[in-house]
Amino acid sequence: METAKGDWSRLDTESLRQRRADLIASIPPLQEVMHGSLIPRYTRCGKKNCHCATGQGHGPHWYLSALGANGRTRMDYVPDAFVDVVRQRIQNHHRLQEILSHVEEINRELLHRRARD
Ligand SMILES: [Zn+2]
Repeated sequence: METAKGDWSRLDTESLRQRRADLIASIPPLQEVMHGSLIPRYTRCGKKNCHCATGQGHGPHWYLSALGANGRTRMDYVPDAFVDVVRQRIQNHHRLQEILSHVEEINRELLHRRARD
């Protein structure tokens, strides 16, 4: 399925169109996308006798780190029960970006060939 950048020119036009169709068919569900990174945080509770005073803090507590509309990084707390779904949605976002990039490369190659469809 994966084709490195620049390899498109080796495929004939019909194969290119088929690859493009395959890519589009593999788009993840668009309601299941999320942009950002999952960041673990460890906290210290402040109790002197707690293991966290000397060792690793409590956690991980997960946060979704993403660039907000104002250009600043925002951190949203992610409850444990949501970590898996957020991780999957982030993966979907990356996959979607990859698919978009490949489809656009194919369309550029088709332009070079003066292929309209
Ligand atoms: Zn503690």
